[in-house]
Amino acid sequence: MAVAAFVAAILPFLKTSSITHAPVVAAVGARRGREREPCMGAGPVAVETRQAVLEVADLDRLIATLREAGWDVLGPTVRDGAVVYDRIERADELPAGWIDEQAPGHYRLRREGERRFGYTVGVTSWKRFLSPPRARLFAARREARSLELTAGPEPATKQAFLGVRPCELAAIAIQDRVFLGGAWTDPIYRARREATLLVVVQCGRVGPTCFCAAMGAGPHASAGFDLALTEMLEEGRHWFLLEAGSARGEQILARLEVREPAATERAAAEAVAQRAAAQPGRPLETEHLATLLRRSSDHPHWSEVARRCLACGNCTQVCPTCFCTSVEDVEALGGGAVERVRRWDTCFSPDFSYIHGGCIRPSVRARYRHWLTHKLGTWREQFGTAGCVGCGRCITWCPAGIDLTEEAAALRSAARREERTHADA
Ligand code: SF4
Ligand code: SF4
Repeated sequence: MAVAAFVAAILPFLKTSSITHAPVVAAVGARRGREREPCMGAGPVAVETRQAVLEVADLDRLIATLREAGWDVLGPTVRDGAVVYDRIERADELPAGWIDEQAPGHYRLRREGERRFGYTVGVTSWKRFLSPPRARLFAARREARSLELTAGPEPATKQAFLGVRPCELAAIAIQDRVFLGGAWTDPIYRARREATLLVVVQCGRVGPTCFCAAMGAGPHASAGFDLALTEMLEEGRHWFLLEAGSARGEQILARLEVREPAATERAAAEAVAQRAAAQPGRPLETEHLATLLRRSSDHPHWSEVARRCLACGNCTQVCPTCFCTSVEDVEALGGGAVERVRRWDTCFSPDFSYIHGGCIRPSVRARYRHWLTHKLGTWREQFGTAGCVGCGRCITWCPAGIDLTEEAAALRSAARREERTHADA
């Protein structure tokens, strides 16, 4: 392929966004329609929504219906002692009767009850299916006097995420802003995002590492999904309140032949949401947090965290909003052919900020400070929201048990002490 064709092939990586998305209004609880904040940049428009009762035995029918409609279903399942998101074909692959114990540097599954979605969040987030850990940008072969483009990115296929938690839905909305909301958009993310159906499962349990409420990201999703399930297990009856939040969700719901919920069933589902909202979660004081972090850039506490931090980058890999990547060329051993690959990277790697013969953040202190300050502070200036949804994964999967809520609280306490000292002087 000559240069002109090569340029045409990579043009999508240079184009600005021209996508439009079908906007929706979601209903929560008993027929209450609400305008959602559109996560892909479209204006809110009312769409008829419907609620239905799905018996637990009919989960298979939901999965089969999604598959018949051409969606590859990805959902929670147990692998190697952990809940992960992977391809599923039947409801018996869901983590029935498993709940997770999460704490700083600690994760265990244990048996309890019969819920299909009794855990809080899976180990890794949905971002691996929207922005894969390793994505080919193009492959090329050198001919005598030209460069032949032999392949572009892998094509996107229809995928349904079954079991998206409200915080994860918020994280997808954040990544939508990052990848699609600016002047330059990401064609790989855009293609995958447009081919994705979101089936939320509302939270009935707020785990000890969750702080979604503090970040305004949970524990209940009221908009931005195609379908939402509330799992009900009361007085020996196991069923789901199923709610459509988009035209696509309505279409799936219409195929299921399910009945409308009774007023008592709607009320019971509302009570689940209220009980979850009443659970405290991990505390994080967010007021003026961005200002606090900016003013604390020279605080000695960063050195104390750096003493514990291994700079392993686990926190960024499990985080549903972190998006740093690097691009590398992988050459064939014999030469002549090359693949340009984008792979996940981490701001905890010294190479990540290496430019012009030097690393911008050479110390672990600088790297941890950059990460925390970006997630909870400067992200707002960049994208208009925090870069954290309070899912707690970075706390659970930090091998050193470092907890960003505790580090933010330590900086706030130090600032208050200093204010008092100044006031007394
Ligand atoms: S904070 Fe924890 S997970 Fe993150 S880089 Fe440091 S040691 Fe690794
Ligand atoms: S920073 Fe931590 S708690 Fe916040 S979204 Fe990322 S992994 Fe979740």
